[in-house]
Amino acid sequence: MTNIVEYFLKKKGVNIGDYVEVYLMDRIKYKGIIMPKHEFSKPEILVLKLDNGYNIGIDINKVLDIRKTEAPEISPGVSVEDEVERPEDLPRVLVMGVGGTILSKVDYTTGAVRSAVSTEELLSILPEVNQIAEIDTKIIMNKYSEHLTPSDWSKISREIYSAISSKKYDGIVVLHGTDTLGYTAAAVSFAVQQLPIPVVFVGSQRSSDRPSSDAALNLISAIRVAGYADIAEVVVAMHRDTSDEYIAVHQGTRVRKNHTSRRDAFQSIDTNPYMLVDSEGRFKILRDGFRRRDVNRSPILYPKFSQDVALVKFYPGFNHHILLSLLHNGVKAVILEGTGLGHVGEYLFETIGLLVDNGVHIYMTSQCIWGRVNMNVYDTGRFLRKLGVIPLENIISETAYVKASWVLGNFGVKELDILMTTNVVGEASPRSPIKDMRRES
Ligand code: ASP
Repeated sequence: MTNIVEYFLKKKGVNIGDYVEVYLMDRIKYKGIIMPKHEFSKPEILVLKLDNGYNIGIDINKVLDIRKTEAPEISPGVSVEDEVERPEDLPRVLVMGVGGTILSKVDYTTGAVRSAVSTEELLSILPEVNQIAEIDTKIIMNKYSEHLTPSDWSKISREIYSAISSKKYDGIVVLHGTDTLGYTAAAVSFAVQQLPIPVVFVGSQRSSDRPSSDAALNLISAIRVAGYADIAEVVVAMHRDTSDEYIAVHQGTRVRKNHTSRRDAFQSIDTNPYMLVDSEGRFKILRDGFRRRDVNRSPILYPKFSQDVALVKFYPGFNHHILLSLLHNGVKAVILEGTGLGHVGEYLFETIGLLVDNGVHIYMTSQCIWGRVNMNVYDTGRFLRKLGVIPLENIISETAYVKASWVLGNFGVKELDILMTTNVVGEASPRSPIKDMRRES
């Protein structure tokens, strides 16, 4: 136990193992046994084992009083009538675990971030959560997101679809690694359409046991969006900036991790986030036009993803054999991430023509990140178009890759060109915004 909690308990005349009543601000009262301090809880967190067997973490700064009292005559862990005074009619939120840093803690023997935290453990250090929503948890896998494959996207999509279909929830939160979070959020956006409730992806750049962790605010805000925001889209909720002021809620198909370590790594590309959530849980809409909640809406599931797609970045000196090898390996669609408005070097033209003639569909995105491709400006672009390369407006390259995998998986190669150039779930914005969106949000 760190000094601050120890000092506080001593001052109140109670000890670890005592059965106590804890009075908080807002007339909230908890009863339970004082537990030894959790290895990764923050210094000011007091851990209490409630009569129903769950541990919760309580911020001692919010404690008005703590008094020793008679323990009820039950064995610990036996479920009893809930003694916790909670606001009535809280929304019900499913917190689904996929993995990543948000579900990890530091292994102090090696110093590496890798030990798994159960969702219960994670929620137990966030006492506020019980006041925000009724939480169910389900770990469907625990992988760092760099290990996920398109078949994991299918599994996650099916799980989300079945949780929504149970009609038990007001929203779903998905705990996910940040590295490929944008890919999975895009995948679920295509796979589970016509949502009646929000599906909120959330991760953290630093594990929950680190003082600088962004896990707590990200998770609490994601639960607030899932439980209360009038939105029924697949979104990603992450820090907007380096302070703890705002969480940005990004559209699942238009978001990208743009920094390796900063907490504000995620940005909406060529558009604004849908909304911000402040640390008190207030929503500020930045962009309208999203689907609103409607419990009577039935979701539609298209859960399959094909692996016959490649995302290829062009660079000066690109070896044409790399493209040729795709042809020999059964790839049916290539997302070519070209330079600028959508270009590759002329020394690739012949190979590109060969691929197209052999039935490979080639789509162009830009490695510029912001802005849209335009293959009518320069001869290079026009020539590539003549060869059969199809431009994809301002869709993010990663989203284009996910989309091609989804189209092939569910509808087959015949539908590729038509669906790749149709805005299915708002993945390409019709016009590039006039304002500079890099700075707007
Ligand atoms: N490599 C980790 C992952 O994506 C990083 C993180 O969770 O933020 O799973």
